[in-house]
Amino acid sequence: MLNLSVLIEDAARETPDRDALVFGDMRLSYSFVNTVANQVANLLVSWGIRPGDKVALSSPNLPYFPMVYFGILKAGAVVVPLNVLLKPREVAYHLEDSDAKALFCFEGTPELPIGESGHAGFQQADGCEHFVVLPANPAASESPIEGTELFWAALNGLPGTFEPVVTEPTDTAVVLYTSGTTGQPKGAELSHANMLMNAMVADGLFAKTLHDTFMVTLPLFHIFGQTCVMNAGIYRRATLALVPRFEPKAAVALLVKEKINMFAGVPTMWWALLMDDTSEDDVKEITANLRVAVSGGAALPLEIIKGVKKKFGVDVLEGYGLSETSPVASFNRPDRPTKPGSIGLPIWGVEMKLIDDEWNTVEGEGPGEIAIRGHNVMKGYYKRPEATAEAIKDGWFRTGDLARRDDEGYYFIVDRSKDMIIRGGYNVYPREIEEVLMTHEAVSLAAVVGVPHDSHGEEIKAYVIRKPGAEVTEEELVSWGKQQFANYKYPRIVEFRDELPMTASGKILKRELR
Ligand code: AMP
Repeated sequence: MLNLSVLIEDAARETPDRDALVFGDMRLSYSFVNTVANQVANLLVSWGIRPGDKVALSSPNLPYFPMVYFGILKAGAVVVPLNVLLKPREVAYHLEDSDAKALFCFEGTPELPIGESGHAGFQQADGCEHFVVLPANPAASESPIEGTELFWAALNGLPGTFEPVVTEPTDTAVVLYTSGTTGQPKGAELSHANMLMNAMVADGLFAKTLHDTFMVTLPLFHIFGQTCVMNAGIYRRATLALVPRFEPKAAVALLVKEKINMFAGVPTMWWALLMDDTSEDDVKEITANLRVAVSGGAALPLEIIKGVKKKFGVDVLEGYGLSETSPVASFNRPDRPTKPGSIGLPIWGVEMKLIDDEWNTVEGEGPGEIAIRGHNVMKGYYKRPEATAEAIKDGWFRTGDLARRDDEGYYFIVDRSKDMIIRGGYNVYPREIEEVLMTHEAVSLAAVVGVPHDSHGEEIKAYVIRKPGAEVTEEELVSWGKQQFANYKYPRIVEFRDELPMTASGKILKRELR
Protein backbone atom coordinates (compact mmCIF):
# COMPACT_ATOMS: atom_id res chain seq x y z
CA MET A 1 0.00 0.00 0.00
CA LEU A 2 1.32 3.39 -0.83
CA ASN A 3 -1.18 5.99 0.18
CA LEU A 4 0.01 9.35 1.41
CA SER A 5 -2.45 9.00 4.29
CA VAL A 6 -0.02 6.50 5.80
CA LEU A 7 1.56 9.60 7.40
CA ILE A 8 -1.40 10.26 9.66
CA GLU A 9 -2.16 6.56 10.16
CA ASP A 10 1.32 5.85 11.48
CA ALA A 11 1.41 8.92 13.68
CA ALA A 12 -2.00 8.10 15.18
CA ARG A 13 -0.94 4.52 15.88
CA GLU A 14 2.42 5.36 17.39
CA THR A 15 1.71 8.63 19.21
CA PRO A 16 -2.07 8.73 19.58
CA ASP A 17 -2.14 11.19 22.48
CA ARG A 18 0.43 13.62 21.24
CA ASP A 19 -0.87 17.03 20.13
CA ALA A 20 -1.02 17.01 16.35
CA LEU A 21 -2.62 20.44 15.99
CA VAL A 22 -2.71 23.55 18.08
CA PHE A 23 -5.06 26.34 17.14
CA GLY A 24 -5.69 29.09 19.68
CA ASP A 25 -6.72 27.26 22.85
CA MET A 26 -7.65 24.14 20.93
CA ARG A 27 -5.27 21.16 21.11
CA LEU A 28 -6.11 18.12 19.01
CA SER A 29 -4.35 14.78 19.31
CA TYR A 30 -3.09 12.62 16.46
CA SER A 31 -5.69 10.03 17.31
CA PHE A 32 -8.50 12.62 17.09
CA VAL A 33 -7.31 14.03 13.76
CA ASN A 34 -7.06 10.53 12.32
CA THR A 35 -10.52 9.60 13.55
CA VAL A 36 -12.09 12.66 11.92
CA ALA A 37 -10.17 11.89 8.69
CA ASN A 38 -11.71 8.41 8.80
CA GLN A 39 -15.16 9.93 9.15
CA VAL A 40 -14.47 12.17 6.16
CA ALA A 41 -13.46 9.09 4.13
CA ASN A 42 -16.67 7.34 5.19
CA LEU A 43 -18.68 10.41 4.19
CA LEU A 44 -17.10 10.43 0.73
CA VAL A 45 -17.79 6.74 0.24
CA SER A 46 -21.41 7.28 1.29
CA TRP A 47 -21.70 9.85 -1.49
CA GLY A 48 -20.36 7.37 -4.04
CA ILE A 49 -16.97 9.06 -4.41
CA ARG A 50 -14.65 6.50 -5.99
CA PRO A 51 -10.85 6.13 -6.06
CA GLY A 52 -9.42 8.67 -8.48
CA ASP A 53 -12.34 11.11 -8.12
CA LYS A 54 -11.36 14.70 -7.36
CA VAL A 55 -12.45 16.48 -4.20
CA ALA A 56 -11.66 20.16 -3.69
CA LEU A 57 -10.66 21.70 -0.38
CA SER A 58 -10.66 25.42 0.30
CA SER A 59 -9.51 26.19 3.81
CA PRO A 60 -7.02 28.47 5.49
CA ASN A 61 -4.67 26.91 8.05
CA LEU A 62 -7.32 25.55 10.40
CA PRO A 63 -7.67 22.04 11.87
CA TYR A 64 -10.07 21.21 9.05
CA PHE A 65 -7.30 21.23 6.48
CA PRO A 66 -5.39 18.09 7.51
CA MET A 67 -8.58 16.29 8.57
CA VAL A 68 -10.23 16.70 5.17
CA TYR A 69 -6.96 16.29 3.23
CA PHE A 70 -6.19 12.89 4.74
CA GLY A 71 -9.85 11.83 4.62
CA ILE A 72 -9.91 12.39 0.85
CA LEU A 73 -6.66 10.45 0.43
CA LYS A 74 -7.85 7.56 2.57
CA ALA A 75 -10.85 7.18 0.26
CA GLY A 76 -8.38 6.86 -2.64
CA ALA A 77 -9.66 10.16 -4.01
CA VAL A 78 -7.54 13.08 -5.15
CA VAL A 79 -7.20 16.33 -3.19
CA VAL A 80 -7.60 19.57 -5.13
CA PRO A 81 -6.48 22.31 -2.72
CA LEU A 82 -7.82 25.74 -3.62
CA ASN A 83 -6.27 29.07 -2.80
CA VAL A 84 -8.61 30.68 -0.27
CA LEU A 85 -8.36 34.06 -2.00
CA LEU A 86 -9.96 32.90 -5.25
CA LYS A 87 -12.93 34.87 -6.54
CA PRO A 88 -16.20 33.12 -7.52
CA ARG A 89 -15.35 32.94 -11.21
CA GLU A 90 -11.98 31.40 -10.38
CA VAL A 91 -13.44 28.89 -7.95
CA ALA A 92 -15.85 27.77 -10.65
CA TYR A 93 -12.96 27.45 -13.13
CA HIS A 94 -10.88 25.32 -10.75
CA LEU A 95 -13.79 23.04 -9.86
CA GLU A 96 -14.68 22.48 -13.50
CA ASP A 97 -11.15 22.13 -14.77
CA SER A 98 -10.32 19.56 -12.09
CA ASP A 99 -13.64 17.69 -12.51
CA ALA A 100 -14.20 18.06 -8.77
CA LYS A 101 -17.19 16.10 -7.50
CA ALA A 102 -17.29 17.78 -4.10
CA LEU A 103 -16.03 20.85 -2.31
CA PHE A 104 -15.18 21.37 1.34
CA CYS A 105 -15.15 25.12 1.84
CA PHE A 106 -14.45 27.29 4.85
CA GLU A 107 -17.34 29.67 5.43
CA GLY A 108 -15.11 32.59 6.20
CA THR A 109 -14.94 35.14 8.93
CA PRO A 110 -14.81 38.90 8.74
CA GLU A 111 -11.01 38.68 8.65
CA LEU A 112 -10.97 35.97 6.04
CA PRO A 113 -13.42 37.06 3.39
CA ILE A 114 -13.28 33.83 1.49
CA GLY A 115 -16.54 32.14 2.21
CA GLU A 116 -18.78 34.01 -0.12
CA SER A 117 -16.53 33.54 -3.10
CA GLY A 118 -16.35 29.83 -2.40
CA HIS A 119 -20.10 29.49 -2.24
CA ALA A 120 -20.85 31.48 -5.34
CA GLY A 121 -18.14 29.63 -7.24
CA PHE A 122 -19.56 26.31 -6.16
CA GLN A 123 -23.00 27.23 -7.35
CA GLN A 124 -21.62 28.04 -10.80
CA ALA A 125 -19.66 24.82 -11.27
CA ASP A 126 -21.16 21.91 -13.18
CA GLY A 127 -20.52 18.42 -11.90
CA CYS A 128 -19.68 19.41 -8.35
CA GLU A 129 -22.57 17.92 -6.44
CA HIS A 130 -21.58 17.90 -2.81
CA PHE A 131 -20.81 20.92 -0.76
CA VAL A 132 -19.71 20.92 2.87
CA VAL A 133 -19.26 24.12 4.84
CA LEU A 134 -16.33 24.21 7.24
CA PRO A 135 -17.86 26.54 9.81
CA ALA A 136 -15.96 29.34 11.52
CA ASN A 137 -17.88 28.44 14.65
CA PRO A 138 -17.55 24.66 15.13
CA ALA A 139 -20.62 24.72 17.37
CA ALA A 140 -22.86 26.17 14.64
CA SER A 141 -25.95 24.07 14.12
CA GLU A 142 -27.25 25.34 10.80
CA SER A 143 -25.49 25.76 7.50
CA PRO A 144 -25.53 29.36 6.28
CA ILE A 145 -26.23 28.28 2.70
CA GLU A 146 -29.10 26.32 1.27
CA GLY A 147 -28.32 22.96 -0.21
CA THR A 148 -25.12 22.55 1.77
CA GLU A 149 -24.14 20.55 4.82
CA LEU A 150 -22.21 21.60 7.88
CA PHE A 151 -18.98 19.69 8.42
CA TRP A 152 -19.66 18.31 11.91
CA ALA A 153 -23.30 17.60 11.16
CA ALA A 154 -22.33 15.71 7.99
CA LEU A 155 -19.91 13.53 9.96
CA ASN A 156 -22.34 12.88 12.78
CA GLY A 157 -22.84 9.16 13.37
CA LEU A 158 -20.25 8.07 10.79
CA PRO A 159 -17.74 5.45 11.96
CA GLY A 160 -14.34 6.71 13.08
CA THR A 161 -12.53 3.81 11.49
CA PHE A 162 -11.71 3.32 7.82
CA GLU A 163 -9.38 1.01 5.93
CA PRO A 164 -7.46 3.31 3.53
CA VAL A 165 -7.86 2.45 -0.14
CA VAL A 166 -4.76 0.80 -1.55
CA THR A 167 -3.19 3.02 -4.19
CA GLU A 168 -0.30 2.58 -6.60
CA PRO A 169 2.75 4.79 -6.06
CA THR A 170 2.03 6.49 -9.38
CA ASP A 171 -1.65 7.18 -8.66
CA THR A 172 -2.43 10.86 -8.33
CA ALA A 173 -2.75 12.11 -4.76
CA VAL A 174 -3.03 15.85 -5.29
CA VAL A 175 -3.88 18.13 -8.22
CA LEU A 176 -2.29 21.43 -7.35
CA TYR A 177 -3.12 24.50 -9.37
CA THR A 178 -0.23 26.73 -10.32
CA SER A 179 -0.57 29.96 -12.17
CA GLY A 180 2.32 29.66 -14.58
CA THR A 181 3.18 32.70 -16.68
CA THR A 182 0.48 32.76 -19.27
CA GLY A 183 -3.04 31.56 -19.70
CA GLN A 184 -5.19 29.86 -17.13
CA PRO A 185 -3.90 28.08 -14.04
CA LYS A 186 -2.95 24.47 -14.68
CA GLY A 187 -3.29 21.53 -12.30
CA ALA A 188 0.01 19.81 -11.53
CA GLU A 189 -0.71 16.12 -10.92
CA LEU A 190 1.38 14.90 -8.02
CA SER A 191 1.44 11.20 -7.17
CA HIS A 192 1.41 9.51 -3.79
CA ALA A 193 5.09 8.63 -4.33
CA ASN A 194 5.96 12.24 -5.32
CA MET A 195 4.38 13.62 -2.16
CA LEU A 196 5.56 10.96 0.25
CA MET A 197 9.16 10.97 -0.95
CA ASN A 198 9.36 14.74 -0.80
CA ALA A 199 7.95 14.90 2.73
CA MET A 200 10.44 12.27 3.89
CA VAL A 201 13.40 13.91 2.21
CA ALA A 202 12.39 17.36 3.52
CA ASP A 203 12.10 15.90 6.99
CA GLY A 204 15.54 14.32 6.76
CA LEU A 205 16.98 17.64 5.66
CA PHE A 206 15.81 19.86 8.44
CA ALA A 207 14.22 18.02 11.31
CA LYS A 208 16.56 17.31 14.16
CA THR A 209 14.61 15.63 16.91
CA LEU A 210 11.32 13.81 17.14
CA HIS A 211 8.35 15.72 18.48
CA ASP A 212 9.29 19.23 17.54
CA THR A 213 6.75 22.04 17.40
CA PHE A 214 6.36 23.72 14.02
CA MET A 215 4.80 27.10 13.34
CA VAL A 216 2.52 26.81 10.32
CA THR A 217 2.07 30.19 8.67
CA LEU A 218 2.71 29.03 5.10
CA PRO A 219 -0.69 28.32 3.59
CA LEU A 220 -1.32 24.59 3.46
CA PHE A 221 -3.04 24.87 0.08
CA HIS A 222 0.37 25.84 -1.36
CA ILE A 223 2.89 23.05 -1.93
CA PHE A 224 5.62 24.52 0.31
CA GLY A 225 3.44 24.46 3.44
CA GLN A 226 1.73 21.24 2.46
CA THR A 227 4.85 19.11 2.00
CA CYS A 228 7.56 20.77 4.07
CA VAL A 229 5.47 21.73 7.07
CA MET A 230 2.30 19.62 7.25
CA ASN A 231 3.39 16.32 5.71
CA ALA A 232 7.00 16.43 6.89
CA GLY A 233 5.78 17.55 10.32
CA ILE A 234 3.28 14.72 10.66
CA TYR A 235 5.90 12.25 9.47
CA ARG A 236 8.03 13.58 12.34
CA ARG A 237 5.10 13.45 14.83
CA ALA A 238 5.54 17.17 15.32
CA THR A 239 2.94 19.45 16.84
CA LEU A 240 1.68 21.86 14.20
CA ALA A 241 0.75 25.29 15.54
CA LEU A 242 -1.65 26.65 12.91
CA VAL A 243 -1.81 30.29 11.90
CA PRO A 244 -4.53 31.18 9.36
CA ARG A 245 -2.98 34.49 8.37
CA PHE A 246 0.61 35.62 8.90
CA GLU A 247 0.98 38.70 11.04
CA PRO A 248 4.36 39.37 12.68
CA LYS A 249 3.11 40.32 16.18
CA ALA A 250 0.91 37.22 16.40
CA ALA A 251 3.74 35.06 15.02
CA VAL A 252 6.12 36.35 17.67
CA ALA A 253 3.56 35.62 20.40
CA LEU A 254 3.12 32.09 19.09
CA LEU A 255 6.87 31.48 18.78
CA VAL A 256 7.13 32.33 22.46
CA LYS A 257 3.98 30.61 23.73
CA GLU A 258 4.45 27.31 21.93
CA LYS A 259 8.25 27.29 22.21
CA ILE A 260 8.46 26.80 18.44
CA ASN A 261 11.46 24.73 17.26
CA MET A 262 10.94 24.88 13.53
CA PHE A 263 9.73 27.65 11.27
CA ALA A 264 9.64 27.52 7.49
CA GLY A 265 8.58 30.71 5.75
CA VAL A 266 8.85 32.67 2.55
CA PRO A 267 11.39 35.54 2.61
CA THR A 268 8.72 38.20 3.26
CA MET A 269 7.73 36.40 6.48
CA TRP A 270 11.33 36.31 7.69
CA TRP A 271 11.61 39.96 6.72
CA ALA A 272 8.49 40.87 8.73
CA LEU A 273 9.86 39.02 11.79
CA LEU A 274 13.06 41.02 11.45
CA MET A 275 11.22 44.34 11.22
CA ASP A 276 9.09 43.58 14.26
CA ASP A 277 10.16 45.47 17.38
CA THR A 278 10.24 42.27 19.43
CA SER A 279 11.01 42.74 23.13
CA GLU A 280 14.36 41.50 24.38
CA ASP A 281 12.69 38.87 26.56
CA ASP A 282 10.77 37.49 23.61
CA VAL A 283 13.88 37.42 21.41
CA LYS A 284 15.65 35.45 24.16
CA GLU A 285 12.82 32.96 24.43
CA ILE A 286 12.56 32.52 20.67
CA THR A 287 16.32 32.09 20.30
CA ALA A 288 16.34 29.42 23.03
CA ASN A 289 13.87 27.22 21.15
CA LEU A 290 14.15 27.93 17.44
CA ARG A 291 16.52 25.33 16.00
CA VAL A 292 15.45 24.98 12.42
CA ALA A 293 14.82 27.96 10.17
CA VAL A 294 13.95 27.39 6.52
CA SER A 295 13.18 29.71 3.64
CA GLY A 296 11.95 28.94 0.15
CA GLY A 297 9.47 29.95 -2.50
CA ALA A 298 11.34 33.09 -3.53
CA ALA A 299 14.86 34.50 -3.43
CA LEU A 300 16.11 35.08 0.11
CA PRO A 301 18.08 38.35 0.23
CA LEU A 302 21.45 38.15 2.00
CA GLU A 303 20.46 41.04 4.27
CA ILE A 304 17.63 38.92 5.66
CA ILE A 305 19.93 35.93 6.32
CA LYS A 306 22.32 38.22 8.20
CA GLY A 307 19.51 39.92 10.09
CA VAL A 308 17.93 36.66 11.28
CA LYS A 309 21.29 35.31 12.42
CA LYS A 310 21.89 38.50 14.38
CA LYS A 311 18.43 38.68 15.92
CA PHE A 312 17.59 35.02 16.57
CA GLY A 313 21.01 33.36 16.35
CA VAL A 314 19.92 30.86 13.74
CA ASP A 315 21.01 30.21 10.14
CA VAL A 316 18.13 30.33 7.70
CA LEU A 317 18.57 27.40 5.34
CA GLU A 318 17.35 28.11 1.83
CA GLY A 319 15.71 25.59 -0.43
CA TYR A 320 14.25 25.73 -3.90
CA GLY A 321 11.39 24.10 -5.67
CA LEU A 322 8.08 24.45 -7.46
CA SER A 323 4.55 23.13 -7.30
CA GLU A 324 5.51 20.83 -10.18
CA THR A 325 8.35 19.30 -8.12
CA SER A 326 6.38 18.51 -4.94
CA PRO A 327 8.15 21.07 -4.21
CA VAL A 328 11.71 20.53 -2.91
CA ALA A 329 14.41 20.11 -5.57
CA SER A 330 17.47 21.55 -3.84
CA PHE A 331 18.42 22.60 -0.34
CA ASN A 332 21.28 24.01 1.68
CA ARG A 333 21.81 20.83 3.63
CA PRO A 334 22.80 21.44 7.23
CA ASP A 335 25.37 18.61 7.00
CA ARG A 336 27.31 20.35 4.22
CA PRO A 337 28.79 23.82 4.13
CA THR A 338 25.88 26.17 3.51
CA LYS A 339 26.36 28.95 1.01
CA PRO A 340 24.31 32.08 1.62
CA GLY A 341 22.63 33.22 -1.57
CA SER A 342 22.64 29.70 -2.94
CA ILE A 343 19.69 27.31 -3.23
CA GLY A 344 22.10 24.53 -2.29
CA LEU A 345 22.56 21.09 -3.80
CA PRO A 346 19.93 18.83 -5.40
CA ILE A 347 18.20 16.69 -2.78
CA TRP A 348 18.68 12.95 -2.56
CA GLY A 349 17.29 11.12 -5.59
CA VAL A 350 16.93 14.30 -7.65
CA GLU A 351 19.15 15.57 -10.46
CA MET A 352 19.48 19.14 -11.62
CA LYS A 353 21.16 20.58 -14.69
CA LEU A 354 21.23 23.77 -16.71
CA ILE A 355 19.74 23.86 -20.20
CA ASP A 356 19.29 26.35 -23.02
CA ASP A 357 16.08 27.18 -24.91
CA GLU A 358 16.48 24.06 -27.10
CA TRP A 359 16.90 21.68 -24.13
CA ASN A 360 20.67 21.39 -24.75
CA THR A 361 22.71 20.90 -21.60
CA VAL A 362 24.72 23.95 -20.56
CA GLU A 363 28.07 22.85 -19.13
CA GLY A 364 30.11 24.70 -16.55
CA GLU A 365 28.94 27.73 -14.64
CA GLY A 366 26.06 28.78 -16.87
CA PRO A 367 23.79 30.68 -16.61
CA GLY A 368 21.11 28.39 -17.91
CA GLU A 369 17.59 27.34 -17.13
CA ILE A 370 17.25 24.80 -14.33
CA ALA A 371 15.92 21.39 -15.37
CA ILE A 372 14.99 18.78 -12.77
CA ARG A 373 14.63 15.00 -12.92
CA GLY A 374 13.73 12.61 -10.12
CA HIS A 375 11.09 11.26 -7.79
CA ASN A 376 9.72 14.76 -7.16
CA VAL A 377 8.69 15.63 -10.73
CA MET A 378 4.91 15.70 -11.30
CA LYS A 379 3.14 13.29 -13.63
CA GLY A 380 2.06 16.20 -15.80
CA TYR A 381 -0.57 18.93 -16.02
CA TYR A 382 -4.06 17.51 -15.58
CA LYS A 383 -5.76 17.06 -18.97
CA ARG A 384 -3.10 19.16 -20.72
CA PRO A 385 -0.86 16.84 -22.74
CA GLU A 386 0.57 19.71 -24.80
CA ALA A 387 1.56 21.81 -21.81
CA THR A 388 3.03 18.67 -20.24
CA ALA A 389 5.07 17.87 -23.34
CA GLU A 390 6.41 21.43 -23.37
CA ALA A 391 7.44 21.17 -19.75
CA ILE A 392 8.78 17.61 -19.48
CA LYS A 393 11.16 15.86 -21.88
CA ASP A 394 12.90 12.53 -21.19
CA GLY A 395 11.90 12.92 -17.55
CA TRP A 396 13.47 16.38 -17.26
CA PHE A 397 11.19 19.20 -16.12
CA ARG A 398 12.12 22.72 -17.24
CA THR A 399 11.51 25.31 -14.59
CA GLY A 400 11.75 28.75 -16.18
CA ASP A 401 14.31 29.72 -13.53
CA LEU A 402 17.76 30.90 -14.57
CA ALA A 403 20.71 29.88 -12.44
CA ARG A 404 24.47 29.62 -12.21
CA ARG A 405 26.36 26.69 -10.72
CA ASP A 406 29.69 26.86 -8.90
CA ASP A 407 32.43 24.25 -9.18
CA GLU A 408 31.12 22.42 -6.10
CA GLY A 409 27.73 21.95 -7.74
CA TYR A 410 25.83 24.55 -5.70
CA TYR A 411 23.15 26.40 -7.65
CA PHE A 412 22.52 30.15 -7.46
CA ILE A 413 19.26 31.53 -8.86
CA VAL A 414 19.91 34.47 -11.14
CA ASP A 415 16.21 35.16 -11.66
CA ARG A 416 13.07 33.77 -13.15
CA SER A 417 13.45 34.04 -16.90
CA LYS A 418 10.07 35.79 -17.02
CA ASP A 419 11.21 38.49 -14.56
CA MET A 420 14.30 39.38 -16.55
CA ILE A 421 14.30 42.98 -17.80
CA ILE A 422 15.66 43.83 -21.23
CA ARG A 423 16.77 47.46 -21.22
CA GLY A 424 18.21 48.81 -24.44
CA GLY A 425 19.19 45.28 -25.51
CA TYR A 426 20.93 44.42 -22.22
CA ASN A 427 19.63 41.72 -19.89
CA VAL A 428 19.10 42.95 -16.35
CA TYR A 429 18.30 40.54 -13.53
CA PRO A 430 16.11 42.24 -10.91
CA ARG A 431 17.39 40.01 -8.14
CA GLU A 432 20.91 41.41 -8.45
CA ILE A 433 19.61 44.98 -8.17
CA GLU A 434 17.35 44.14 -5.22
CA GLU A 435 20.21 42.52 -3.27
CA VAL A 436 22.33 45.66 -3.62
CA LEU A 437 19.50 48.11 -2.92
CA MET A 438 18.85 46.29 0.34
CA THR A 439 22.38 47.02 1.52
CA HIS A 440 21.48 50.77 1.51
CA GLU A 441 21.01 51.96 5.09
CA ALA A 442 17.52 53.37 4.48
CA VAL A 443 16.13 50.46 2.47
CA SER A 444 14.19 47.72 4.15
CA LEU A 445 12.77 45.81 1.16
CA ALA A 446 13.11 46.31 -2.59
CA ALA A 447 11.36 44.84 -5.61
CA VAL A 448 12.63 45.67 -9.09
CA VAL A 449 10.60 45.36 -12.28
CA GLY A 450 10.77 46.47 -15.89
CA VAL A 451 8.27 49.09 -17.06
CA PRO A 452 7.57 49.95 -20.71
CA HIS A 453 9.84 52.61 -22.20
CA ASP A 454 9.71 54.23 -25.66
CA SER A 455 13.35 54.03 -26.66
CA HIS A 456 14.86 51.41 -24.27
CA GLY A 457 12.00 48.94 -24.57
CA GLU A 458 11.97 48.61 -20.80
CA GLU A 459 13.12 50.86 -17.98
CA ILE A 460 14.23 49.66 -14.55
CA LYS A 461 11.97 50.62 -11.71
CA ALA A 462 12.46 49.89 -8.01
CA TYR A 463 9.65 49.71 -5.48
CA VAL A 464 11.13 50.36 -2.07
CA ILE A 465 9.92 50.04 1.51
CA ARG A 466 12.01 52.33 3.72
CA LYS A 467 13.26 51.28 7.15
CA PRO A 468 11.17 52.76 9.98
CA GLY A 469 12.23 56.39 10.52
CA ALA A 470 14.72 56.34 7.65
CA GLU A 471 14.64 59.15 5.09
CA VAL A 472 15.83 58.90 1.56
CA THR A 473 14.52 60.50 -1.61
CA GLU A 474 14.10 59.06 -5.08
CA GLU A 475 16.95 61.27 -6.40
CA GLU A 476 19.31 60.12 -3.64
CA LEU A 477 18.61 56.46 -4.24
CA VAL A 478 18.91 56.78 -8.03
CA SER A 479 22.26 58.55 -7.77
CA TRP A 480 23.47 56.04 -5.16
CA GLY A 481 22.47 53.23 -7.52
CA LYS A 482 24.39 54.92 -10.32
CA GLN A 483 27.58 54.48 -8.32
CA GLN A 484 26.88 50.82 -7.61
CA PHE A 485 25.94 49.50 -11.03
CA ALA A 486 26.99 49.57 -14.65
CA ASN A 487 25.14 52.29 -16.52
CA TYR A 488 22.57 50.00 -18.13
CA LYS A 489 21.59 48.42 -14.81
CA TYR A 490 20.77 51.02 -12.22
CA PRO A 491 17.12 51.82 -11.47
CA ARG A 492 16.07 55.14 -13.01
CA ILE A 493 12.71 55.23 -11.22
CA VAL A 494 12.12 54.66 -7.52
CA GLU A 495 8.70 54.54 -5.93
CA PHE A 496 8.33 54.35 -2.16
CA ARG A 497 5.59 52.16 -0.75
CA ASP A 498 4.45 51.18 2.75
CA GLU A 499 3.76 47.67 1.56
CA LEU A 500 4.10 45.52 -1.55
CA PRO A 501 1.41 43.36 -3.16
CA MET A 502 1.82 39.70 -2.27
CA THR A 503 0.40 36.33 -3.25
CA ALA A 504 -1.51 34.29 -0.69
CA SER A 505 1.72 32.40 -0.04
CA GLY A 506 3.60 35.63 0.71
CA LYS A 507 5.62 36.06 -2.49
CA ILE A 508 5.96 39.57 -3.88
CA LEU A 509 3.61 39.91 -6.85
CA LYS A 510 5.86 41.34 -9.55
CA ARG A 511 3.14 40.96 -12.16
CA GLU A 512 1.03 43.45 -10.26
CA LEU A 513 3.93 45.89 -9.78
CA ARG A 514 4.61 45.86 -13.50
P1 AMP B 1 5.40 27.77 -6.86
O1 AMP B 1 5.06 26.80 -7.91
O2 AMP B 1 4.31 28.70 -6.47
O3 AMP B 1 5.95 27.05 -5.68
O4 AMP B 1 6.56 28.72 -7.42
C1 AMP B 1 7.77 28.20 -7.87
C2 AMP B 1 8.72 29.31 -8.20
O5 AMP B 1 9.15 29.99 -7.01
C3 AMP B 1 9.99 28.85 -8.85
O6 AMP B 1 9.84 28.62 -10.23
C4 AMP B 1 10.94 29.99 -8.55
O7 AMP B 1 10.80 31.03 -9.50
C5 AMP B 1 10.46 30.49 -7.20
N1 AMP B 1 11.36 30.00 -6.13
C6 AMP B 1 11.17 28.97 -5.30
N2 AMP B 1 12.19 28.86 -4.42
C7 AMP B 1 13.08 29.85 -4.71
C8 AMP B 1 14.34 30.27 -4.17
N3 AMP B 1 14.89 29.68 -3.13
N4 AMP B 1 14.96 31.31 -4.77
C9 AMP B 1 14.40 31.95 -5.82
N5 AMP B 1 13.22 31.61 -6.36
C10 AMP B 1 12.55 30.57 -5.82
